[in-house]
Amino acid sequence: SFACTPIKQHQILVCVRKRPLNRRELNSYEVDVISVPNTELLVVHEPRKQVNLTKFLVHHNFRFDYTFDDDCSNAQVYERTARPLVRHIFEGGMATCFAYGQTGSGKTHTMGGEFTGKQQNSRDGIYALAAGDVFQYLHQSKYAHLGLSVSCSFFELYGTRLYDLLMAGKPQLRVLEDGKQKVQVVGLTEKPVDNTDDVLKLLDLGNSVRTSGQTSANSKSSRSHAVFQIVLRVDSTHQLHGKFSLIDLAGNERGADNSSSNRLTRLEGAEINKSLLALKECIRALGRQSTHLPFRGSKLTQVLRDSFIGGKKVRTCMIAMISPSLRSMEHTLNTLRYADRVKEL
Ligand code: ADP
Ligand code: MG
Repeated sequence: SFACTPIKQHQILVCVRKRPLNRRELNSYEVDVISVPNTELLVVHEPRKQVNLTKFLVHHNFRFDYTFDDDCSNAQVYERTARPLVRHIFEGGMATCFAYGQTGSGKTHTMGGEFTGKQQNSRDGIYALAAGDVFQYLHQSKYAHLGLSVSCSFFELYGTRLYDLLMAGKPQLRVLEDGKQKVQVVGLTEKPVDNTDDVLKLLDLGNSVRTSGQTSANSKSSRSHAVFQIVLRVDSTHQLHGKFSLIDLAGNERGADNSSSNRLTRLEGAEINKSLLALKECIRALGRQSTHLPFRGSKLTQVLRDSFIGGKKVRTCMIAMISPSLRSMEHTLNTLRYADRVKEL
């Protein structure tokens, strides 16, 4: 059905991806409450009971730039979301792509690639698909004369702390803002890469450091934002030409949870909440062409500052991931309402 819909070149793109019910959910007879009637519409069918106990459904309609049904592949999602942004950075632009949603909704599957057993097949994730196109464009006659070189950074934001995932020992790095409000992550690794395999190696290295063996829903990775960046520089001068930041956000349910008895967990949740709210406000400010962007609201938006300023040179895409099950419906509605607000000016 996507074959006949044009590829949209909006400055801000907001999409939703529904994942299929997994084996465990099917085995426990979980109900799928989401339908995707067309490529721009998504409906949540909420079961309710009347006072006299008759059951009925309330249908919540949501419209987005794209709605991806559960039979869409990563490649199909990539084609409509991140791929136009790769072109944009070659044109000298700045781009961001966010995977947003509750833990278990498919953020890492979409960005980092499918998990088979304990192994992540990073080749079919948006990170790797974007890298593949970067090297293709690099050698196209249209861009080859620019003399660009490609490098990558990969870091994690955990609370207000930033960790370099490409450096041994995952050191914590400082974020500095100079007088001209330029933001700099001091000492952030920017590894030169020559082909997709180089990028895959970096991703595997970073991921192994990041998750430290944990893949469960309660793992630390669901409480941190992972930021993967593809940087284009003019080889001779080292001047920045374009940058693409791809972000696997912390689970949004972490921000809503302030019930934990653990003080550290509550503080972490508060910081996640703060960063997701600041992110929403920054994207909305971008959409309004406002010169006043609320970066300082969080570490995440502060670090991504140069990807939000620059007027027309800046593009962003948010992919909101949702689980189909009735059990997740409250979180799903929260996710959809957040995404809805992002595209509202
Ligand atoms: P998150 O990163 O949002 O916590 P994951 O990407 O880890 O969620 O996905 C949770 C589980 O669902 C994983 O086992 C993953 O392989 C599976 N999954 C997610 N999205 C899809 C999809 N589109 N198709 C099939 N399986 C998926
Ligand atoms: Mg994840």
